[in-house]
Amino acid sequence: MTSKDAEATNRAERERAAEKSASVSPLHAVEVSDSGIQVKRAEAAVSELLAALGRDVSDPNLQETPRRVVASFVEQLTPREFSMTTFANDDGYDELVLVRDIPFHSLCEHHLLPFRGVAHVGYLPGDRIVGISKLARTVELFSRDLQVQERLTKQIADYLEDKLQPRGVGVVLEAEHMCMTLRGAQAAGSITTTSTFKGALTKDSALRRRFLPALGDLTA
Ligand SMILES: [Zn+2]
Repeated sequence: MTSKDAEATNRAERERAAEKSASVSPLHAVEVSDSGIQVKRAEAAVSELLAALGRDVSDPNLQETPRRVVASFVEQLTPREFSMTTFANDDGYDELVLVRDIPFHSLCEHHLLPFRGVAHVGYLPGDRIVGISKLARTVELFSRDLQVQERLTKQIADYLEDKLQPRGVGVVLEAEHMCMTLRGAQAAGSITTTSTFKGALTKDSALRRRFLPALGDLTA
């Protein structure tokens, strides 16, 4: 084998190794994630934040931290794709369709700390119905974002109204905000409830009560 051949072999091996490590950690190899996050830039920013917090970023224990932090943000800010397939309501089902206790988590846009809890999502069908798992996917679609709970509640309701044209929509979120329980007020265990009702559900306190008993009397 000539030295040139050996060099070519080494290069091929290096390329294979690089491909292999890219497949182990595909996120690290890309500049921009599917959800538009600038991965390299964000990693540099986390590194800078650590330095500004007085940490030694060359410490072996911290070397992988920027990559991990950004991977965590990308995951929390990227909803899984799904298609909101609707079906004709051939059987004329006209009672409430309600999915309770859908777990969700989101990131508070004021502190970049998580808030998490459960969503109760329901609608009164009109001409279209939807697979019930899509109600949980809709919650994820808007919760994997920098959010405030009020806007998140309304976005879920608006989306379902737009896609289903139902006779009514209700969305109730109950969540614990880490920015309120771990810092600031330090109100550990406090739960924030938000709700949006549309259409026929705004006038029917008995139906609203099925989302959350206390909500029945709000505007009755
Ligand atoms: Zn906050």
